[in-house]
Amino acid sequence: QVVTRFAPSPTGFLHIGGARTALFNWLYARGRGGKFLLRIEDTDRERSTPEATAAILQGMEWLGLDHDGDVISQFEGAARHAEVAHDLLSQGKAYKCFSTQDEIAEFRDVARAAGKSTLFHSPWRDADAATHPEAPYVVRIKAPLEGTTIIHDQVQGDVTIRNDQLDDMVLLRSDGTPVYMLAVVVDDHDMGVTHVIRGDDHLNNAARQMMIYNAMGWDVPVWAHIPLIHGQDGKKLSKRHGALGAQEYQAMGYPAAGMRNYLTRLGWSHGDDEFFTDAQAQDWFDLGGIGKSPARFDVKKLENLCGQHIAISDDAALRHEIEAYLNAAERPPLSETQSSDLERAMYCLKDRAKTFPELLEKAEFALVSRPISPDQKAAKALSTVSNGILDQLTPHLQNASWTRDELEAALNAFAEAQGTKFGKLASPLRAALAGRAVTPSVFDMMLVLGRDETLARLSDAAK
Ligand code: GLU
Repeated sequence: QVVTRFAPSPTGFLHIGGARTALFNWLYARGRGGKFLLRIEDTDRERSTPEATAAILQGMEWLGLDHDGDVISQFEGAARHAEVAHDLLSQGKAYKCFSTQDEIAEFRDVARAAGKSTLFHSPWRDADAATHPEAPYVVRIKAPLEGTTIIHDQVQGDVTIRNDQLDDMVLLRSDGTPVYMLAVVVDDHDMGVTHVIRGDDHLNNAARQMMIYNAMGWDVPVWAHIPLIHGQDGKKLSKRHGALGAQEYQAMGYPAAGMRNYLTRLGWSHGDDEFFTDAQAQDWFDLGGIGKSPARFDVKKLENLCGQHIAISDDAALRHEIEAYLNAAERPPLSETQSSDLERAMYCLKDRAKTFPELLEKAEFALVSRPISPDQKAAKALSTVSNGILDQLTPHLQNASWTRDELEAALNAFAEAQGTKFGKLASPLRAALAGRAVTPSVFDMMLVLGRDETLARLSDAAK
């Protein structure tokens, strides 16, 4: 069974790159009936905060990246991590090193002066520590001295590291606490992780982590180190390029489905497919489709996909998502009536909006209450017809049955009787119904508003 994991360090918000890493792991597991686990790498006690953990969880929830099982705290596993170090110690694959910081610094100075590698070689590697008097020590792993370590990476291919470039990495600090690198390996092993998809900034760690796998005789997971995300200028994504946090995108009103689609395509491809559903993404996602070079973040593409996802979304689901968006954006919530009016209007709005604020803007006609004050353009449109016309229209609408066909017939007949065309009446009608010049079609507005509200707005405008 496939087991993947997302292992963020809780030191800030959920970065868009982290969100993509989580998404790739989620897709890979979900598409294969596997498990997707979440481990919070909170061993750095100074930098880890509960607020950051909450923000990461919230971001993942927004993106619909549900994880299996409990959230695992890496810090809580410290005793288990130390146990593995002691195990290696008793197997003779690790050793107690009593060298002091000063001695290590001196070793490096001498090596540098001699033009040799400054990788520390501890004199304790092959010494008999049992005879050493009580003194602080660290536990170091015995790195292989010759040969090479090959990482079979699913994205980067085989990456070869010369073993003489690996030092006897510390596993346990002198206070007995395990180092991060050990914790990652032990956790991935104990959690049964089969596939690790993570940023290629961890590729160097992989070689060092491999030493621990090998020393313990554990299976190495399948590794896929993905290139980081760049901005449009080809430089590493940073604040200059705009929003970096997943939650910022939620607060800007991008739908989660569009964001998922876009992030999936960011560094992974499936032929020429740009737009796809979650089911398709889960079905298609594989490690082979991950690109070797950094993908560039492109807001235009994101918006385009978001528009397509809004268009195919279910009306009630959109209403729900928009309410969550308003909350995330700290905008005032909709009233119960507004919310259900919005849902009824959704069918004529959702084809044309790339974001929720855009959609709400187009929904304005359904959300405002009378009296409506027309904006400048709407006022101008109203002034092109005599007020009497709106009053004369009223009886025709009072008797029409409230369907699109009937309304169309009634308005066309009315226009003809006035010696004009419906097209000439459309602008003033929009203005009367919405107070705006740009709106959904007159018929859609009438259908959404209903007879009473429509007639009341026409009569307001005729005054
Ligand atoms: N905690 C690491 C990070 O946030 C990820 C480590 C890993 O995936 O192995 O960058």
